[in-house]
Amino acid sequence: MNAEIIVVGSELLTPFRQDTNSLYLTEKLNQLGVDVRRKTIVADDQKQIAELTRVALSRSDILIFSGGLGPTEDDLTREGVAEALQLELQRDPEMLAAFEVRAAARGWKMTANNHKQADVIAGAIVLANSNGTAPGQWITRKHDGRERILLLLPGPPHELKAIFEEQCMARLRTVLPTQFIVTRVLKITGIGESQCDARVAPIYKGYTDVQTTILAGAGEVQLHLKTHADSIDAAQKRVDKLVEEIENELGDLVFSDTGESLEQIVNYYLQMRNVSLAVAESCTGGLVAERLTSISGSSRYFLGGAVVYSNELKTRFADVPAEMIEKHGAVSEEVARALAEGIRKRCGASFGMGITGIAGPTGGSAEKPVGLVFHALASEAGVEVVRKIFPGDRKHIRWFASQTALDMVRRKLM
Ligand code: ATP
Ligand code: MG
Repeated sequence: MNAEIIVVGSELLTPFRQDTNSLYLTEKLNQLGVDVRRKTIVADDQKQIAELTRVALSRSDILIFSGGLGPTEDDLTREGVAEALQLELQRDPEMLAAFEVRAAARGWKMTANNHKQADVIAGAIVLANSNGTAPGQWITRKHDGRERILLLLPGPPHELKAIFEEQCMARLRTVLPTQFIVTRVLKITGIGESQCDARVAPIYKGYTDVQTTILAGAGEVQLHLKTHADSIDAAQKRVDKLVEEIENELGDLVFSDTGESLEQIVNYYLQMRNVSLAVAESCTGGLVAERLTSISGSSRYFLGGAVVYSNELKTRFADVPAEMIEKHGAVSEEVARALAEGIRKRCGASFGMGITGIAGPTGGSAEKPVGLVFHALASEAGVEVVRKIFPGDRKHIRWFASQTALDMVRRKLM
């Protein structure tokens, strides 16, 4: 079975409001074993809603509408769907009476436009809205010999969620074949998207029953795996087997096979090894500290550190000799090393991280181009340095640098 989501709302076609309902609905439908094949955002326009409904009926088993069920002039989903199905809208007197009671209990006066929220498409099952006024509607319809389901849900997310959870999940389960979907996210760092794909494509191509999507971000590649089966165990086994083969191929380039972020993994390792970390950040301006402290409980192993953007503070807070900066420049392997060692000693940490580089767009030279970053990790045993030249704009370069720094810690503690 496949589904199509139709999001109604002109405001969602502006840069100011974003559709999140379809994300929620997709997650829930996947849990039910239903694939979402298409989604569309359509303006508050009856003709367009009707037209889209007719097309969607010809290609999808389940049509879910979000929004446009309210009382105002521009709420036209009921009207558009009724037009497409050539069915009448019938005002439900019992529902109207219930609205009156509800309004009175809150000391509100019902206005005439509220009445249209009691308009029900002929033959629809009404889905009560425990968080608002406009109810949802469930309509079944035969099209080309196949049963279609149309679900009309209100736009406010808390109303849509309440109706979907309370009234639609169980109903859908009774009409859907028993099927389970299992998804996994593998996260990879230290390799680019095309290189990664060249290595793993020969593996996942052998799993035609697992849908594999490769997504690239700054300093990270993600592999999203998804499969269907008629039991949760069977689906799980298929995905596990593919994960195992990919991990055998990529080795420690894979930092998570259950979707965690790199900072979560680093926090996990710091905790497991019972060691502490401090950072002295120049070009990343505190990004590494920000990422580590976004994890609850990180205070146990992430001690803190300093943002040492100026040369003077590199000396004052991390004991980098002024002559060293003078001689080698602030962006140099020597200064990165000194930052890592200095902050480690100052903070009494097991590990010290020093980062210095040129995030651009200005400040680069032939010898030290924009994107050049030195990352140093100091411990009692000595200091390791990674030198990189990252591509992209300032934001990207800073992110890449934080990613590389975190990955050095991960590799050290693995
Ligand atoms: P109402 O009775 O509130 O008018 P409605 O069913 O007519 O309900 P809309 O008018 O389409 O819903 O949307 C109401 C509000 O709900 C919007 O202003 C927006 O804040 C939110 N909303 C609507 N659609 C979405 C969506 N797809 N994703 C996230 N939020 C949404
Ligand atoms: Mg509305």
